[in-house]
Parts: sequence; C-alpha cells; structure tokens
Amino acid sequence: MSTKKTVKDYIRTIVDFPQEGILFRDVTTLFADARGFRMAIDQMLHPYAGQPIDKVVGLEARGFILGGAIAHQLSVGFVPVRKKGKLPGATIAQEYQLEYGDAVVEIHDDALAAGERVLLVDDLLATGGTAEAGIKLIERLGAEVVGCAFIIDLPDLGGRTRLEGLGMDVHCLCA
Ligand code: 5GP
Repeated sequence: MSTKKTVKDYIRTIVDFPQEGILFRDVTTLFADARGFRMAIDQMLHPYAGQPIDKVVGLEARGFILGGAIAHQLSVGFVPVRKKGKLPGATIAQEYQLEYGDAVVEIHDDALAAGERVLLVDDLLATGGTAEAGIKLIERLGAEVVGCAFIIDLPDLGGRTRLEGLGMDVHCLCA
C-alpha cells in the first residue's frame, strides 16, 4: 500500500472552533510542513500554468500566505483583499452576508489596472460569500478573474456552484 501523503493528509480538523458545533479545517499544519506546503502551492497553480496572469489577489488572512507564495512562483505581484479598516490607502469596499449579519472587505483602489488578469486565492470555499465579494472588488476595478483557487471545498455549502454561476473557473484541491 502506498504511503504517499496528499494535501488533505496535512490538514487537521479542530472540533468546536470557533464555536460549538463547528468542525474547523486547520491548514496551519499544512503550511508548517515544507513538503505539504509546496505540494499545495504547486497543485493550486497547476491549471493556470502557461496562462497569462498579471496579479494574484489573496483573501484575508490565509489567502495572504498562499497568495504570496503563488505570486512569487508566477513572478507577478500580490494584492490583498482585507477586512474593513485595515488597508492604509484609498479603498473601495464590498459588503457581503455572513451567517449572522454582514461583513465588509476592501481593496486599494489603485491595486489593479483595468484589463489585468487575476488569480483569486483563499484557503477554503464554504458559502462562497467571501470569494464573491473579492470577485466584485476585482471586477469593479476593471480587472478580470481568470480563476479562483482554494485548498478545500465544502461542497454542501454551495460555494462552487455559486461561483460557477458567476462564470468563474473554480479549482479546489480537496473536500
Ligand atoms: P465563505 O465566505 O465561503 O462562507 O467562507 C470562506 C471563508 O471563511 C474563507 O476566507 C475561509 O478562510 C474562512 N473559513 C470558514 N470556515 C473555515 C474553516 O473551517 N477553516 C478555515 N481554514 N477557514 C474557514
């Protein structure tokens, strides 16, 4: 029997975090392992190899870790989408729905040029609300999302269907 580990094998599940009843997928164990981290970055990039990409956009906070490594690998710039009030320059904001209440994410208004081709990156796709807000910010700056790459998809929460409904190419490494 093969003992070769997959990306999923490096991810642990924490019970009752951040609140009771939640099974939190913890990717810090993947990030901490040299082989696991490299495997995740290589696999997230794989479908986009050879495609022209101008920028990587990462969603706060684990999307920064993945997005930085992917941008470095592609030799392109990295742009953060952050929670409201964290970015120092002039921003545009996008509101989205959480399970309880609303949230707002922002991007610097000069971070992307019209027509730039963007790869959007985060660790986990659940309802797709966070990613959709990121997509809207990118598109409002006139740039184009060529793909949305995640490590984990939680298919029961419908994020992939939601993003594909927006015409997005969605790439996830495991469920
Ligand atoms: P969504 O907006 O798709 O419902 O939720 C995805 C966002 O919530 C992502 O930014 C992701 O980092 C975070 N998230 C939600 N649940 C988990 C989880 O179990 N593990 C991790 N690592 N992130 C989660």
